[in-house]
Amino acid sequence: ASQIATASTPVRSISHAKLDWRDSDTPVSIEFDDVYFSTVDGIDETRYVFLQHNGFPERFTEHPRNTLVVAETGFGTGLNLMVLWHAFREFRRRHPDAPCKRLHFVTMEKYPVTEADLAKAHRHWPEFAEQCRQLKSAYPMPIPGCHRMEFDQGQVVVDLWLGDVNQCLEQMYAPEEGLVDVWFLDGFTPSRNPKMWQEQLYEQMARLSHRNASYATFTAAGHVRRGLEKHGFTVTKDQGYGVKREMISGHFTPDRPQASRPDEVAVVGAGIAAAHTALSLVQRGIAVTLYGQDAGPADGASGNRQGALYPLMNLAEDGLSALYQQGFLLARQRLSRLVENGHSVDHDWCGVLQLSQSPKDAEKLERIGAAGFPCELVHRVDRDAASHIADLPLDRGGLFFPYGGWLAPEQLVLALLAQAQATGLLTCHWHHRLQGLQRAQAHWQLEFDQSTARHQQLVICMGHASADLAQSAPLPLQPVRGQISAPESSGDLSRLKTVLCADGYLVPALAGRLTCGASFVKNSRDSQWRSEDVEEIGGRMANSFAGSDWLAQLALDDSGRAAIRGSVRDHFPLMGPITDWSRVAADPRVWRDAPLPNQPGLHLVAGLGSRGLCSGALMAESAVSLICAEPLPLTQGLLQRLLPGRFWQRRINKGHPPVDQ
Ligand code: SAM
Repeated sequence: ASQIATASTPVRSISHAKLDWRDSDTPVSIEFDDVYFSTVDGIDETRYVFLQHNGFPERFTEHPRNTLVVAETGFGTGLNLMVLWHAFREFRRRHPDAPCKRLHFVTMEKYPVTEADLAKAHRHWPEFAEQCRQLKSAYPMPIPGCHRMEFDQGQVVVDLWLGDVNQCLEQMYAPEEGLVDVWFLDGFTPSRNPKMWQEQLYEQMARLSHRNASYATFTAAGHVRRGLEKHGFTVTKDQGYGVKREMISGHFTPDRPQASRPDEVAVVGAGIAAAHTALSLVQRGIAVTLYGQDAGPADGASGNRQGALYPLMNLAEDGLSALYQQGFLLARQRLSRLVENGHSVDHDWCGVLQLSQSPKDAEKLERIGAAGFPCELVHRVDRDAASHIADLPLDRGGLFFPYGGWLAPEQLVLALLAQAQATGLLTCHWHHRLQGLQRAQAHWQLEFDQSTARHQQLVICMGHASADLAQSAPLPLQPVRGQISAPESSGDLSRLKTVLCADGYLVPALAGRLTCGASFVKNSRDSQWRSEDVEEIGGRMANSFAGSDWLAQLALDDSGRAAIRGSVRDHFPLMGPITDWSRVAADPRVWRDAPLPNQPGLHLVAGLGSRGLCSGALMAESAVSLICAEPLPLTQGLLQRLLPGRFWQRRINKGHPPVDQ
């Protein structure tokens, strides 16, 4: 795969590193002709250069905030991460009451090592075996962009950005306080890797640094020292490690506002968006009060018995594929972690087969299959291969997502909330339907049928009803009714081994019943079960599988349920602070080419449509990262595609009124 994005060759898959295992156990990069780590004293070198010269372990004890952010150039085989993570665990064991409770490690890698090479490297460090196991289980496919991994119950977060260091740093969103507390300037030696050690690197470090951020690096090359000094970092020389004569370290001197974040946040809603958001908040030590309008969680669109999980793909390079690919991998990880922690969530990673709905659609799938995405993410299959995977005869091939599958959404929501509740930081209030919001000094007053409550910050996760408040009313959120059927699985259909998607979808049986759907009725808020929708689903099954004899065995009955999705026309969710619509409407021209003003403390995770299983975890992590002024698991470009005010901003920037008049 190409590493250089041009208009004609977008990067859809990152090339793996090619390693030479010298003397059979020292990993050497063929590209850079340099070693990854010394098998003799690699751990000691990391401790000396990166930990000691950034002030660890005292650095942990002295850190005044909940989360310490460390950024590294060049992830390699992850030795620095292992050593730091180990030291962090030791610090947490010795100082359980110290303010710093979370380690966030942001790292970048242009040529990720293969899983096999990662495993081979990790054999050198038996003392980190358990951490290596966790890393291996979450290690991403070679998809460009940020891959967020959560370890140790979310107390250690690793953002592995796949791509060139300088391009990745440029794509990181930074609030005015900055993001990074500590830099590990690794990457091969400047003489063998001059492209990485550029002025751009120091410029981005300055943009992204917190007040007083520190750095350390194994090199003392003159241009590195000058670059760092030019961008506001002190430079102190010290004895290098082993045969290296000198190394340098220092800190960022320009002033920056101090980072701050809320102690408590209210979440309104009780579906997938709300449950993921609650978990993301409590993992950061933030107390959460969750308000649900029904008697318990997942009564709306997140309450179906089964749902398919696979990424939505296109070739438009507008960020849609990136969003759903990253979301897909994070969703899989969160589910695996819940299951590891003993929560029961029915699921099967049985793969998903996407079949064409028309000759035009067949061409589109063909193009996606040939576009260079990693084949473990998606690849083309012909009719015979598709039939073999499904274990049922199919009349055409399509795309196969081998890591996709299905899960039980309602159980997922329950498990996420149970996991959040185990921290002791989540309080849930049921039968609380939010009627309105009033701003009262520095608080929001939440008005329910029978009571009111006050909170400083609020995340609205009310699905299609998220635009029912005065503060959110102009949001372009559309209610779309959807009904599923759950017919008995009998005859040939009980053999179905994978999820089938075309005009409708068919999910292998859970407890003797398949799930198929879904109806799609725009602008309907009617959640009654309806026989017309069964006909619609039957029509979709016929459009999808008419060429297969087994379709006659699919007997749709009066099973199933209906709910309302909240959809956005461009298929991107609505995530982030809610725009102050009245200020924008009062004089739109003021906001031309300037970020729209937001309502203080009011955030949104909504518009997940029928894809919340795939996007929910990533949207929750992104919204909470914004609230906490932490690194985002998204590029700045993608963030702009998700902000609730994006439609208005685009129109205003073009000189149009924010909405049609
Ligand atoms: N930090 C690693 C560890 O703890 O195991 C060792 C890093 S290894 C010495 C250097 C790494 O930097 C290699 O994996 C290499 O592919 C990566 N690298 C070099 N130039 C890069 C660039 N421009 N962008 C991203 N990664 C780069």
